[in-house]
Formats: sequence, structure tokens, C-alpha cells
Amino acid sequence: MDNVDVVIIGAGVIGLAVAAKLSQQFKDVLVIEKNKSFGEETSSRNSEVIHAGIYYPQASLKAKFCVQGKELLYQYCHERHIPVNRIGKLVVAHGPSEEKVLEKTLMAAKANGVNDLIWLDNSTLKQLEPNLRASAALASPSTGIIDSHVYMQSLLAQAQENNALFVAQTKMLNAHPCQTGFKVTLDSQGEQLTLQSKYLINCAGLHSEFVAKTIQGLDKSYIEKLHWCRGHYFSYQGRSPFKQLIYPIPRDNGLGIHASLDMAGQLKFGPDTQYIDKLDYNFPVNLKEKFIEQVSQYFPDIDVDKLQPAYSGIRPKLQGKADGFRDFVIQTAETHKIKGLINLFGIDSPGLTSSLAIANYVAEKLKFV
Ligand SMILES: Cc1cc2nc3c(=O)[nH]c(=O)nc-3n(C[C@H](O)[C@H](O)[C@H](O)COP(=O)(O)OP(=O)(O)OC[C@H]3O[C@@H](n4cnc5c(N)ncnc54)[C@H](O)[C@@H]3O)c2cc1C
Repeated sequence: MDNVDVVIIGAGVIGLAVAAKLSQQFKDVLVIEKNKSFGEETSSRNSEVIHAGIYYPQASLKAKFCVQGKELLYQYCHERHIPVNRIGKLVVAHGPSEEKVLEKTLMAAKANGVNDLIWLDNSTLKQLEPNLRASAALASPSTGIIDSHVYMQSLLAQAQENNALFVAQTKMLNAHPCQTGFKVTLDSQGEQLTLQSKYLINCAGLHSEFVAKTIQGLDKSYIEKLHWCRGHYFSYQGRSPFKQLIYPIPRDNGLGIHASLDMAGQLKFGPDTQYIDKLDYNFPVNLKEKFIEQVSQYFPDIDVDKLQPAYSGIRPKLQGKADGFRDFVIQTAETHKIKGLINLFGIDSPGLTSSLAIANYVAEKLKFV
């Protein structure tokens, strides 16, 4: 039986960031991925926005990791020549009641250490973004966009430079705690093999609840229930009417249907929120009306013929449709009492932004095992 120091389940942005970090600390790091390549699920189906850390409750992991992760990510992109743009974003309000929400948002951001937000009135907005309709806005200059695929490629390359091994088309079937760590059984393209690992890190995204259920001895009360919540995007053909990212006030368990640009300058609107029972990336046919209705509140001159269905992504949420805020859950032996096991649950937005901070946290936790 082969022996390794660490098995990381899942090569999304979180598994890869953890691999890049742990490969500096441990000799034999193995990343397994059930799909043909890395980053084929949530990590390649998102807005590719580097969030500032504005909305999350003070002292939550989301607030802490987003603010830390943003700076780490800009630094990382600079050092490794990853396409990134600190393009900035506007959170827009329509009328006095939404402006009150903006005031609260400003306070929440300050409590999280985001001190660079600027209040913009209607006349300033008209000059900055003539195509935008809003009574006021908060400008967030530290919000940016990134090429998430190149970022993941770089994390993988960094892990491999440190001798980590990445194996695709390989699924974890189960794991059994033993004296020296875990016996982990894998299915690699139909062939079953078992190896021994000192540490086991569950970064399985949408499947992290399922993977946790295959770890023998893990008390069920520590396995978080995931709610899958799909979000859809429409692309907008032609030149973007906006210079920066435009966000409405957050709603419906998401950040609202926003306008974001990718590194190639393509404008897209989305995502909305739709809770689903089955994992599929279907794009319902009747969505366009809802998008037009919501987007036209801040972009009245929208040309509906330029809106084209683009893609969807699925959030691994801990909160159900009617629930309030839920934080990331990163469980170590301090909680579940299984030495060497770390489960990451509910890594929805701002997971991409937080990835390097999450990796540092995981590495820190393993130092004391
Ligand atoms: C619509 C949408 C918009 C978003 N926008 C943003 C944004 O703008 N900014 C931001 O910061 N965050 C954003 N996010 C959140 C961000 O995309 C996620 O937090 C992040 O991608 C999660 O990465 P992950 O590695 O945990 O999951 P994933 O990318 O899903 O990776 C998990 C991997 O585990 C693999 N796996 C699962 N089970 C097994 C198994 N048994 N064996 C082997 N491999 C397995 C899967 O195949 C998968 O590749 C958004 C998310 C969504 C859905």
C-alpha cells in the first residue's frame, strides 16, 4: 500500500490552493479529482470577482477570509503574472429605503476592515457611468476580476513544483481512520486502490457532504447538510455600457443579479438564485423576463436582443431558501475528534476570493495535529 502525507479530495480552487500551501510543508501531497481535469465544477462557473469583503457579518470566517484573501490574491497574481484587474464596483441604491441599506452596508464594511468605500451621489454617478440609473451608490475600489482558470493552473503548477501529485479521473470511495492516519480507497478509472495517508482534507465542494458520509467513524452530527443553489448568467453582446462592476442591493440569498466583466471585457448579468434537488446545469427557458425586469432597474436602456443565455453555476450553500446567513464551516479534530481530518463545508461565495486565506488556515490547523 502506498503511503502519502496528505490526500486532498477535489481539485477546485480550494483543493488546489490547499495543495499549493501544504506542498510547502509536506513531502507527499496527493490531490485527487473525479473529473477529467481540475476546476470543472463551481470554480469555473462563477463571476470571477475578487470581492472586497463588504457584506459579511463582522468576525465571520467569510468576512475574515475574504478581506485577507483579497490582498493575498492580488499579491499572488502580481508575483505569478495572473491576469487580474482592480476594476472596482458600484453597489447601487434606488430611493431612500435602499439608500438606508447602503448606509448599513457602509458600516458593515468598516467593521470588517474595508475602509476604502466611497459614497457617490446621483450627479457624480451620472458622470462616471452615464448608462446607470441609481439615486446613490457605494464605490468599492478594491473589488476586482481575475482569470480564475489561469489562477487555478498556477496553483496546480506551484503544487507540482513542490512535488505534489495530481491525479484526475480518480474518486474517493471511502476512508477508514487507522493508527497512522487513514486508509483511503480510491476508484481510478474503474480500478480500486487503497493508500495510507496521515491527513485527509475534504475539499469536495458540492459533494463534501457525500464525501464526509464515506469517512468511517465520523459522527453524523458533524456532517453539514448542503443545499444546492443554482445561479444563471446571461451574456450581453457588444461593448459594455459600464466601466466597472454594478451590483444591486443583495437579495434572495445572493448578491443580486449584477453586471460583471471578465478579463476579455465580456459583460454578463447574473447570477440569480434557484434552489435545486438534482445536480444539473440546465438553463430554464423562461428566465429572460426575470433578468430584464431586475437588470433594467439599474440599466433602463438595456437592449433585450443582446441578452444571451450563457452558463450556470451551483453554490454549495449551508442555508436553505428561507434561512439567514450561514458561514463557511471548516471542521478539524477540535470539533469531530478524528485526528488529521479536515472537512470544508459550504464554501460558496466568496470562496474564490478567500482561497489563499482558507489554505493558510488549513495549513495552520495541521501544524498542531
Ligand atoms: C454562481 C456562482 C458565482 C460565484 N461568484 C463568486 C465570485 O465572484 N467570487 C468569489 O470569491 N466566489 C464566487 N463564488 C464561489 C466560488 O466559486 C466557490 O466558493 C469556489 O469555486 C469553491 O471551490 P471548491 O474548490 O470548494 O469547489 P469546486 O470547484 O466545486 O471543487 C470541488 C471538486 O471536488 C471534486 N470532487 C467531489 N467529490 C469528489 C470525490 N469523491 N473524489 C474526487 N474528487 C471529488 C469535484 O469534482 C470538484 O472538482 C461563486 C459561486 C457560484 C456558484
